Amino acid sequence: MLRWTMLFGEGYEQQATIMEPTGGMDAVAHAFYRRTRRFITLDAQVTALRRLGSGARVTWRDRATGRVSTWDADHVIVTVPLPVVSSIDNDLSPKVKAAVEAGARVYPPAVKTAFQAQRRWWEQDHGIYGGISWTTRDITQVWYPSAGIHGRKGILVGAYIWSHDLGRSVSVAWANMPCARTHPGPRRRPAHRDPPRLNRGTGAYARPERHLKPATKAGQVMR
Ligand SMILES: Cc1cc2nc3c(=O)[nH]c(=O)nc-3n(C[C@H](O)[C@H](O)[C@H](O)COP(=O)(O)OP(=O)(O)OC[C@H]3O[C@@H](n4cnc5c(N)ncnc54)[C@H](O)[C@@H]3O)c2cc1C
Repeated sequence: MLRWTMLFGEGYEQQATIMEPTGGMDAVAHAFYRRTRRFITLDAQVTALRRLGSGARVTWRDRATGRVSTWDADHVIVTVPLPVVSSIDNDLSPKVKAAVEAGARVYPPAVKTAFQAQRRWWEQDHGIYGGISWTTRDITQVWYPSAGIHGRKGILVGAYIWSHDLGRSVSVAWANMPCARTHPGPRRRPAHRDPPRLNRGTGAYARPERHLKPATKAGQVMR
């Protein structure tokens, strides 16, 4: 597993390492939006795609008002994920439909959960600054924040799970599970003195399991 995890980021479907823009990755999307907003209609749910002579017709519903409209165009570029394309009423050719369905089967169900820790135990106790720990537990990975180094609190991705064995219901159950039950937790402080605060809007505290082992440095595997 160690060899595979060390090479994980080099896979062809992985984004090459890039700098993080100030404000987080969606700052890129927001910057594009500021320049192109006159071409963009938000809250427009496409409900049907039809071929129309040499062009196409798109039927869409304004999700705010419920109003249904159609647009005709020479070409339509569809960028919704393949599993979603099949759920939109369409008259794609049987060959294209088959390709869409085959592609849709490749998407694995995935779960990512995050929580806010009351202190940055991965930095203070383990000397970890950003990056990812791989584990052999169900949580698979722990991600550490790349910003706010030596700050007071921090938000971690406490579990990132993807598997074709996971059904959607299992994914949803995982996503709803308190993260503190599953993540490796702080090592040197007794768990009950420094519980991570769940970032679920409830203000609830959860106690991490005392027997959990410490986090590893990026690239190392935790057992
Ligand atoms: C849990 C999880 C964790 C992930 N983690 C990472 C990660 O850490 N790093 C990484 O690089 N990738 C990650 N990915 C993958 C990444 O999110 C996707 O590869 C990427 O977002 C795909 O971009 P996209 O534009 O193809 O689709 P999307 O980002 O899904 O965009 C599709 C858009 O189509 C819209 N849409 C859907 N149906 C309709 C409709 N009928 N009409 C109009 N619009 C519609 C949706 O609202 C959405 O805005 C993760 C994915 C998941 C699910």
